[in-house]
Amino acid sequence: MTQANTQPEVNIGLVGHVDHGKTTLVQALSGSWTDQHSEEMKRGISIRLGYADATFRRCPGVDEPECYTTDEECPDGSESEPIRTVSFVDAPGHETLMATMLSGASIMDGAVLVVSATEDVPQAQTEEHLMALDLIGIENIVIAQNKVDLVDRDRAVDNYEQIQEFVEGTVAEGAPIVPVSAGQEVNLDLLIQAIESEIPTPERDPDEDARMFAARSFDINRPGATADELKGGVVGGSLVQGELSVGDGLEIRPGREVEEEGQTEWRPLETSIRSLQAGTQNVESAKPGGLLGVGTGLDPSLTKGDALAGQVAGEPGTLPPTRHEFEMQVDLLDRVVGKEDDESGESDIEEISTGEPLMLTVGTATTVGAVTSARDDECEVSLKRPVCAEEGAQIAINRRVGARWRLIGVGTLS
Ligand code: GDP
Ligand code: MG
Repeated sequence: MTQANTQPEVNIGLVGHVDHGKTTLVQALSGSWTDQHSEEMKRGISIRLGYADATFRRCPGVDEPECYTTDEECPDGSESEPIRTVSFVDAPGHETLMATMLSGASIMDGAVLVVSATEDVPQAQTEEHLMALDLIGIENIVIAQNKVDLVDRDRAVDNYEQIQEFVEGTVAEGAPIVPVSAGQEVNLDLLIQAIESEIPTPERDPDEDARMFAARSFDINRPGATADELKGGVVGGSLVQGELSVGDGLEIRPGREVEEEGQTEWRPLETSIRSLQAGTQNVESAKPGGLLGVGTGLDPSLTKGDALAGQVAGEPGTLPPTRHEFEMQVDLLDRVVGKEDDESGESDIEEISTGEPLMLTVGTATTVGAVTSARDDECEVSLKRPVCAEEGAQIAINRRVGARWRLIGVGTLS
Protein backbone atom coordinates (compact mmCIF):
# COMPACT_ATOMS: atom_id res chain seq x y z
CA MET A 1 0.00 0.00 0.00
CA THR A 2 1.22 3.47 -0.81
CA GLN A 3 0.53 5.45 2.32
CA ALA A 4 0.11 9.19 1.98
CA ASN A 5 3.05 9.92 4.17
CA THR A 6 1.83 13.36 5.08
CA GLN A 7 -0.14 15.04 7.76
CA PRO A 8 -3.27 16.83 6.53
CA GLU A 9 -2.09 20.05 4.91
CA VAL A 10 -5.28 22.03 4.48
CA ASN A 11 -8.44 22.50 6.58
CA ILE A 12 -11.76 22.55 4.80
CA GLY A 13 -14.91 23.60 6.63
CA LEU A 14 -18.18 21.80 5.95
CA VAL A 15 -20.98 24.35 6.12
CA GLY A 16 -24.66 24.40 5.25
CA HIS A 17 -28.11 23.87 6.69
CA VAL A 18 -28.83 21.09 9.18
CA ASP A 19 -29.66 17.75 7.52
CA HIS A 20 -28.39 18.82 4.12
CA GLY A 21 -25.75 16.10 4.35
CA LYS A 22 -22.50 17.59 5.70
CA THR A 23 -21.67 14.67 7.96
CA THR A 24 -22.69 12.10 5.36
CA LEU A 25 -20.45 13.81 2.81
CA VAL A 26 -17.47 13.84 5.15
CA GLN A 27 -18.05 10.18 5.87
CA ALA A 28 -18.28 9.35 2.17
CA LEU A 29 -15.01 11.19 1.48
CA SER A 30 -13.00 10.10 4.48
CA GLY A 31 -14.19 6.50 4.31
CA SER A 32 -14.02 6.22 8.02
CA TRP A 33 -14.03 8.54 10.94
CA THR A 34 -10.61 9.63 12.09
CA ASP A 35 -11.29 8.10 15.45
CA GLN A 36 -11.41 4.62 14.00
CA HIS A 37 -7.69 4.41 13.55
CA SER A 38 -6.21 6.62 16.16
CA GLU A 39 -5.77 6.95 19.85
CA GLU A 40 -8.24 8.03 22.40
CA MET A 41 -6.50 11.35 22.65
CA LYS A 42 -7.30 12.23 19.11
CA ARG A 43 -10.80 10.84 19.28
CA GLY A 44 -11.64 13.30 21.99
CA ILE A 45 -10.50 16.24 19.90
CA SER A 46 -12.34 15.01 16.82
CA ILE A 47 -15.63 14.89 18.62
CA ARG A 48 -15.23 18.36 20.00
CA LEU A 49 -14.18 20.02 16.78
CA GLY A 50 -15.48 17.50 14.27
CA TYR A 51 -12.30 16.89 12.32
CA ALA A 52 -12.05 14.02 9.84
CA ASP A 53 -9.12 13.46 7.52
CA ALA A 54 -9.37 12.25 3.93
CA THR A 55 -6.61 11.38 1.52
CA PHE A 56 -7.44 12.30 -2.07
CA ARG A 57 -5.93 9.88 -4.58
CA ARG A 58 -5.56 9.47 -8.32
CA CYS A 59 -5.70 6.40 -10.54
CA PRO A 60 -2.76 6.58 -12.94
CA GLY A 61 -3.62 6.56 -16.61
CA VAL A 62 -7.28 7.41 -16.06
CA ASP A 63 -8.83 10.65 -17.40
CA GLU A 64 -10.18 13.47 -15.23
CA PRO A 65 -12.44 13.52 -13.33
CA GLU A 66 -12.83 9.73 -13.15
CA CYS A 67 -9.24 9.38 -11.91
CA TYR A 68 -10.08 11.01 -8.53
CA THR A 69 -10.89 8.70 -5.66
CA THR A 70 -10.38 8.08 -1.97
CA ASP A 71 -10.06 4.32 -2.49
CA GLU A 72 -6.64 2.75 -2.41
CA GLU A 73 -7.60 0.38 -5.20
CA CYS A 74 -8.57 1.54 -8.70
CA PRO A 75 -11.39 -0.13 -10.66
CA ASP A 76 -8.81 -2.04 -12.77
CA GLY A 77 -7.22 -3.45 -9.63
CA SER A 78 -4.13 -1.25 -9.69
CA GLU A 79 -3.11 0.93 -6.79
CA SER A 80 -4.08 4.60 -6.63
CA GLU A 81 -1.53 7.33 -5.87
CA PRO A 82 -2.03 9.74 -2.98
CA ILE A 83 -2.35 13.43 -3.94
CA ARG A 84 -2.79 15.12 -0.58
CA THR A 85 -4.49 14.66 2.76
CA VAL A 86 -7.11 17.21 3.74
CA SER A 87 -8.81 17.73 7.07
CA PHE A 88 -12.55 18.39 7.09
CA VAL A 89 -13.93 20.49 9.91
CA ASP A 90 -17.52 19.42 10.50
CA ALA A 91 -18.43 21.09 13.77
CA PRO A 92 -21.27 19.26 15.48
CA GLY A 93 -23.75 22.07 15.98
CA HIS A 94 -24.78 25.12 14.06
CA GLU A 95 -23.84 27.58 16.76
CA THR A 96 -20.53 25.85 17.48
CA LEU A 97 -19.77 26.09 13.80
CA MET A 98 -20.64 29.77 13.62
CA ALA A 99 -18.54 30.52 16.70
CA THR A 100 -15.64 28.46 15.33
CA MET A 101 -15.84 30.29 12.04
CA LEU A 102 -16.06 33.75 13.52
CA SER A 103 -13.66 33.39 16.42
CA GLY A 104 -10.48 33.88 14.48
CA ALA A 105 -9.13 30.42 15.19
CA SER A 106 -8.38 30.61 11.45
CA ILE A 107 -8.76 26.92 11.10
CA MET A 108 -10.55 26.95 7.76
CA ASP A 109 -8.57 27.46 4.58
CA GLY A 110 -11.63 26.93 2.42
CA ALA A 111 -15.16 25.60 2.64
CA VAL A 112 -17.56 23.19 1.04
CA LEU A 113 -21.08 24.62 1.20
CA VAL A 114 -23.55 21.74 1.19
CA VAL A 115 -27.00 22.58 -0.20
CA SER A 116 -29.74 19.98 -0.44
CA ALA A 117 -31.50 19.78 -3.79
CA THR A 118 -34.71 18.79 -2.02
CA GLU A 119 -35.39 22.18 -0.43
CA ASP A 120 -35.80 25.75 -1.58
CA VAL A 121 -32.71 27.94 -1.47
CA PRO A 122 -31.66 29.43 0.87
CA GLN A 123 -32.58 27.71 4.10
CA ALA A 124 -31.78 29.76 7.25
CA GLN A 125 -28.42 28.20 8.09
CA THR A 126 -27.29 28.12 4.47
CA GLU A 127 -27.68 31.87 4.53
CA GLU A 128 -26.01 32.33 7.91
CA HIS A 129 -23.01 30.19 7.05
CA LEU A 130 -22.48 31.98 3.77
CA MET A 131 -22.70 35.28 5.64
CA ALA A 132 -20.01 34.02 8.05
CA LEU A 133 -17.74 32.97 5.15
CA ASP A 134 -18.27 36.42 3.68
CA LEU A 135 -17.47 38.15 6.99
CA ILE A 136 -14.23 36.30 7.57
CA GLY A 137 -13.23 36.37 3.92
CA ILE A 138 -13.05 32.67 3.09
CA GLU A 139 -12.97 32.83 -0.67
CA ASN A 140 -12.06 29.31 -1.69
CA ILE A 141 -15.46 27.69 -1.84
CA VAL A 142 -16.98 24.67 -3.55
CA ILE A 143 -20.75 24.18 -3.47
CA ALA A 144 -22.01 20.61 -3.20
CA GLN A 145 -25.59 20.32 -4.43
CA ASN A 146 -26.44 17.23 -2.43
CA LYS A 147 -29.19 14.58 -2.46
CA VAL A 148 -29.64 14.74 -6.21
CA ASP A 149 -30.72 11.09 -5.97
CA LEU A 150 -33.96 12.29 -4.38
CA VAL A 151 -35.09 14.72 -7.08
CA ASP A 152 -35.91 14.51 -10.77
CA ARG A 153 -33.97 16.31 -13.44
CA ASP A 154 -36.21 19.39 -13.62
CA ARG A 155 -36.14 19.89 -9.90
CA ALA A 156 -32.34 19.51 -9.88
CA VAL A 157 -31.94 22.13 -12.61
CA ASP A 158 -34.33 24.48 -10.84
CA ASN A 159 -32.49 24.10 -7.57
CA TYR A 160 -29.15 24.60 -9.32
CA GLU A 161 -30.39 27.92 -10.69
CA GLN A 162 -31.66 28.96 -7.27
CA ILE A 163 -28.21 28.30 -5.83
CA GLN A 164 -26.56 30.35 -8.56
CA GLU A 165 -28.89 33.23 -7.93
CA PHE A 166 -28.47 33.02 -4.17
CA VAL A 167 -24.67 33.27 -4.23
CA GLU A 168 -24.61 36.16 -6.67
CA GLY A 169 -22.83 39.13 -5.13
CA THR A 170 -21.40 37.03 -2.28
CA VAL A 171 -17.97 35.56 -1.69
CA ALA A 172 -19.29 32.32 -3.26
CA GLU A 173 -20.22 33.92 -6.57
CA GLY A 174 -18.66 31.87 -9.35
CA ALA A 175 -17.84 28.93 -7.07
CA PRO A 176 -18.34 25.60 -8.82
CA ILE A 177 -21.65 23.91 -8.02
CA VAL A 178 -21.22 20.13 -8.11
CA PRO A 179 -24.34 17.93 -8.08
CA VAL A 180 -23.62 14.98 -5.79
CA SER A 181 -25.25 12.32 -3.71
CA ALA A 182 -23.28 11.85 -0.53
CA GLY A 183 -25.60 9.04 0.46
CA GLN A 184 -25.20 7.10 -2.81
CA GLU A 185 -21.60 8.25 -3.35
CA VAL A 186 -22.35 9.75 -6.75
CA ASN A 187 -20.05 12.33 -8.40
CA LEU A 188 -17.53 12.36 -5.56
CA ASP A 189 -14.78 12.30 -8.21
CA LEU A 190 -16.13 15.59 -9.60
CA LEU A 191 -16.27 17.04 -6.11
CA ILE A 192 -12.67 16.05 -5.37
CA GLN A 193 -11.63 17.59 -8.69
CA ALA A 194 -13.38 20.85 -7.74
CA ILE A 195 -11.78 20.89 -4.28
CA GLU A 196 -8.36 20.20 -5.80
CA SER A 197 -8.70 23.19 -8.12
CA GLU A 198 -10.56 25.64 -5.84
CA ILE A 199 -9.10 24.98 -2.38
CA PRO A 200 -5.33 24.78 -2.75
CA THR A 201 -3.05 24.22 0.20
CA PRO A 202 -2.11 27.72 1.40
CA GLU A 203 1.49 28.79 1.15
CA ARG A 204 2.85 28.77 4.67
CA ASP A 205 5.89 30.55 5.98
CA PRO A 206 7.80 28.05 8.14
CA ASP A 207 9.76 30.92 9.70
CA GLU A 208 6.72 32.55 11.27
CA ASP A 209 6.44 32.12 15.02
CA ALA A 210 4.62 28.90 15.76
CA ARG A 211 1.12 29.50 17.07
CA MET A 212 -1.17 26.75 18.24
CA PHE A 213 -4.72 27.11 19.55
CA ALA A 214 -5.38 24.47 22.17
CA ALA A 215 -8.82 22.91 21.96
CA ARG A 216 -8.27 20.15 24.49
CA SER A 217 -5.75 18.89 27.00
CA PHE A 218 -5.34 15.53 28.71
CA ASP A 219 -3.67 13.36 31.23
CA ILE A 220 -3.06 10.16 29.21
CA ASN A 221 -1.76 8.09 32.13
CA ARG A 222 -3.63 5.07 33.44
CA PRO A 223 -4.65 5.29 37.03
CA GLY A 224 -1.94 3.79 39.19
CA ALA A 225 0.92 4.45 36.73
CA THR A 226 4.23 4.51 38.57
CA ALA A 227 6.44 7.58 38.54
CA ASP A 228 8.68 5.88 35.96
CA GLU A 229 5.80 5.22 33.61
CA LEU A 230 4.21 8.62 34.01
CA LYS A 231 3.86 10.52 30.73
CA GLY A 232 3.77 14.31 30.54
CA GLY A 233 0.61 16.28 29.82
CA VAL A 234 -0.81 16.33 26.28
CA VAL A 235 -2.25 19.37 24.52
CA GLY A 236 -4.39 19.01 21.38
CA GLY A 237 -5.45 21.66 18.94
CA SER A 238 -4.55 23.33 15.69
CA LEU A 239 -1.31 24.90 14.65
CA VAL A 240 -2.23 27.93 12.58
CA GLN A 241 1.21 29.20 11.65
CA GLY A 242 4.89 28.24 11.83
CA GLU A 243 6.26 24.81 12.71
CA LEU A 244 6.72 22.82 15.88
CA SER A 245 9.39 20.15 16.37
CA VAL A 246 10.14 17.57 19.00
CA GLY A 247 12.70 19.04 21.39
CA ASP A 248 11.52 22.65 20.93
CA GLY A 249 10.68 24.75 23.96
CA LEU A 250 6.99 25.49 24.42
CA GLU A 251 5.22 28.30 26.23
CA ILE A 252 1.51 28.13 26.98
CA ARG A 253 -0.52 31.22 27.84
CA PRO A 254 -2.36 32.40 29.88
CA GLY A 255 -0.98 29.35 31.73
CA ARG A 256 -2.22 28.66 35.22
CA GLU A 257 -3.74 30.64 37.98
CA VAL A 258 -1.58 30.82 41.07
CA GLU A 259 -2.53 32.23 44.41
CA GLU A 260 0.04 33.90 46.61
CA GLU A 261 -0.66 35.86 49.74
CA GLY A 262 -4.30 36.31 48.83
CA GLN A 263 -3.42 37.57 45.33
CA THR A 264 -4.16 35.55 42.24
CA GLU A 265 -2.33 35.87 38.99
CA TRP A 266 -1.90 33.94 35.77
CA ARG A 267 1.55 32.60 35.00
CA PRO A 268 2.56 31.20 31.60
CA LEU A 269 3.67 27.57 31.57
CA GLU A 270 6.98 26.64 30.06
CA THR A 271 7.98 23.17 28.98
CA SER A 272 9.39 21.28 26.00
CA ILE A 273 7.85 19.20 23.23
CA ARG A 274 8.37 15.47 23.85
CA SER A 275 6.25 14.08 21.00
CA LEU A 276 3.98 15.20 18.18
CA GLN A 277 1.02 13.45 16.63
CA ALA A 278 -0.25 14.93 13.36
CA GLY A 279 -3.14 13.34 11.53
CA THR A 280 -2.72 9.74 12.63
CA GLN A 281 1.05 9.73 12.63
CA ASN A 282 3.81 10.40 15.08
CA VAL A 283 6.06 13.01 13.53
CA GLU A 284 9.28 14.83 14.37
CA SER A 285 7.94 18.18 13.23
CA ALA A 286 4.53 19.48 12.26
CA LYS A 287 3.11 22.17 10.00
CA PRO A 288 -0.38 23.71 10.01
CA GLY A 289 -3.27 21.49 8.92
CA GLY A 290 -5.57 19.13 10.77
CA LEU A 291 -5.28 18.35 14.42
CA LEU A 292 -2.10 18.21 16.38
CA GLY A 293 -1.42 16.41 19.63
CA VAL A 294 1.60 17.72 21.53
CA GLY A 295 3.17 15.59 24.23
CA THR A 296 4.88 17.88 26.75
CA GLY A 297 6.96 17.64 29.86
CA LEU A 298 4.21 19.23 31.92
CA ASP A 299 2.92 17.65 35.08
CA PRO A 300 -0.19 15.83 33.78
CA SER A 301 -2.27 17.32 36.57
CA LEU A 302 -1.91 20.65 34.73
CA THR A 303 -3.38 19.29 31.50
CA LYS A 304 -6.05 16.91 32.70
CA GLY A 305 -9.71 17.48 31.96
CA ASP A 306 -9.15 20.12 29.27
CA ALA A 307 -7.60 22.46 31.81
CA LEU A 308 -5.60 24.13 29.01
CA ALA A 309 -8.38 24.27 26.40
CA GLY A 310 -8.60 27.76 24.92
CA GLN A 311 -4.96 28.59 25.59
CA VAL A 312 -2.29 29.48 23.07
CA ALA A 313 1.05 27.70 22.66
CA GLY A 314 4.23 28.59 20.83
CA GLU A 315 7.94 29.24 21.16
CA PRO A 316 8.77 30.84 24.51
CA GLY A 317 8.83 34.62 24.33
CA THR A 318 6.86 34.90 21.08
CA LEU A 319 3.25 34.70 22.26
CA PRO A 320 0.78 37.59 22.39
CA PRO A 321 0.02 39.15 25.77
CA THR A 322 -2.40 37.78 28.33
CA ARG A 323 -5.36 40.13 28.55
CA HIS A 324 -7.73 40.56 31.46
CA GLU A 325 -9.60 43.26 29.58
CA PHE A 326 -9.56 44.59 26.09
CA GLU A 327 -11.18 46.97 23.68
CA MET A 328 -12.75 45.79 20.44
CA GLN A 329 -14.30 47.18 17.29
CA VAL A 330 -17.74 45.68 16.94
CA ASP A 331 -19.66 44.57 13.87
CA LEU A 332 -23.16 43.53 14.81
CA LEU A 333 -25.02 41.05 12.63
CA ASP A 334 -28.34 41.95 11.02
CA ARG A 335 -30.22 39.52 13.19
CA VAL A 336 -29.73 36.95 15.93
CA VAL A 337 -28.21 33.70 14.69
CA GLY A 338 -29.87 30.36 15.30
CA LYS A 339 -33.19 31.67 16.50
CA GLU A 340 -36.32 30.01 15.15
CA ASP A 341 -39.23 32.20 14.09
CA ASP A 342 -41.51 30.70 16.72
CA GLU A 343 -39.10 31.34 19.60
CA SER A 344 -39.80 34.24 21.88
CA GLY A 345 -37.45 37.20 22.18
CA GLU A 346 -36.25 39.82 19.75
CA SER A 347 -34.64 38.82 16.48
CA ASP A 348 -33.30 42.29 15.92
CA ILE A 349 -29.99 43.10 17.55
CA GLU A 350 -29.74 46.11 19.79
CA GLU A 351 -26.53 48.01 20.44
CA ILE A 352 -24.24 46.62 23.14
CA SER A 353 -24.71 48.46 26.42
CA THR A 354 -22.45 49.16 29.39
CA GLY A 355 -22.78 46.60 32.15
CA GLU A 356 -24.17 43.76 30.07
CA PRO A 357 -22.46 40.36 30.15
CA LEU A 358 -21.16 38.95 26.87
CA MET A 359 -19.79 35.54 26.03
CA LEU A 360 -16.72 35.92 23.85
CA THR A 361 -14.96 33.32 21.75
CA VAL A 362 -11.37 34.31 21.01
CA GLY A 363 -9.40 31.68 19.13
CA THR A 364 -10.42 28.49 20.94
CA ALA A 365 -11.05 30.30 24.22
CA THR A 366 -14.53 31.06 25.47
CA THR A 367 -14.81 33.55 28.29
CA VAL A 368 -17.49 35.72 29.82
CA GLY A 369 -16.87 39.44 30.04
CA ALA A 370 -18.69 42.42 31.42
CA VAL A 371 -18.95 45.47 29.20
CA THR A 372 -17.25 48.33 31.02
CA SER A 373 -17.83 50.91 28.32
CA ALA A 374 -19.70 50.95 25.02
CA ARG A 375 -19.95 53.61 22.36
CA ASP A 376 -20.93 53.35 18.72
CA ASP A 377 -19.00 50.47 17.29
CA GLU A 378 -16.44 50.13 20.06
CA CYS A 379 -16.62 48.49 23.43
CA GLU A 380 -14.42 47.57 26.37
CA VAL A 381 -14.82 44.33 28.26
CA SER A 382 -13.43 43.03 31.51
CA LEU A 383 -12.97 39.25 31.48
CA LYS A 384 -13.65 36.64 34.12
CA ARG A 385 -10.86 34.50 32.71
CA PRO A 386 -8.03 36.14 30.78
CA VAL A 387 -7.19 35.24 27.18
CA CYS A 388 -3.98 35.27 25.19
CA ALA A 389 -4.71 37.24 22.04
CA GLU A 390 -3.06 39.73 19.77
CA GLU A 391 -4.23 42.96 18.26
CA GLY A 392 -6.45 42.29 15.27
CA ALA A 393 -7.72 38.97 16.69
CA GLN A 394 -11.29 38.15 15.70
CA ILE A 395 -13.84 37.60 18.40
CA ALA A 396 -17.28 35.99 18.19
CA ILE A 397 -19.68 37.96 20.40
CA ASN A 398 -22.63 36.25 22.07
CA ARG A 399 -25.39 37.84 24.10
CA ARG A 400 -27.87 36.26 26.45
CA VAL A 401 -31.19 36.13 24.58
CA GLY A 402 -33.93 34.41 26.55
CA ALA A 403 -32.36 31.37 28.16
CA ARG A 404 -29.45 31.05 25.73
CA TRP A 405 -26.33 32.68 24.43
CA ARG A 406 -26.82 33.83 20.87
CA LEU A 407 -24.26 35.01 18.37
CA ILE A 408 -24.81 38.73 17.73
CA GLY A 409 -21.65 39.95 16.10
CA VAL A 410 -17.94 39.92 15.46
CA GLY A 411 -15.30 41.95 17.22
CA THR A 412 -11.75 42.88 16.28
CA LEU A 413 -9.35 43.33 19.15
CA SER A 414 -7.91 46.85 19.03
P1 GDP B 1 -25.93 17.31 8.36
O1 GDP B 1 -26.87 17.76 9.43
O2 GDP B 1 -25.77 18.37 7.31
O3 GDP B 1 -24.63 16.80 8.86
O4 GDP B 1 -26.70 16.11 7.59
P2 GDP B 1 -26.45 14.55 7.69
O5 GDP B 1 -25.21 14.16 6.97
O6 GDP B 1 -26.58 14.11 9.08
O7 GDP B 1 -27.65 14.01 6.78
C1 GDP B 1 -29.01 14.19 7.14
C2 GDP B 1 -29.85 13.08 6.57
O8 GDP B 1 -29.84 13.10 5.15
C3 GDP B 1 -29.36 11.69 6.96
O9 GDP B 1 -30.49 10.87 7.22
C4 GDP B 1 -28.62 11.22 5.72
O10 GDP B 1 -28.64 9.81 5.61
C5 GDP B 1 -29.42 11.86 4.61
N1 GDP B 1 -28.59 12.12 3.42
C6 GDP B 1 -27.42 12.78 3.38
N2 GDP B 1 -26.97 12.84 2.11
C7 GDP B 1 -27.86 12.19 1.34
C8 GDP B 1 -27.95 11.93 -0.07
O11 GDP B 1 -27.10 12.29 -0.87
N3 GDP B 1 -29.06 11.24 -0.49
C9 GDP B 1 -30.02 10.82 0.36
N4 GDP B 1 -31.06 10.15 -0.15
N5 GDP B 1 -29.97 11.06 1.69
C10 GDP B 1 -28.91 11.73 2.18
MG1 MG C 1 -23.85 16.85 10.79
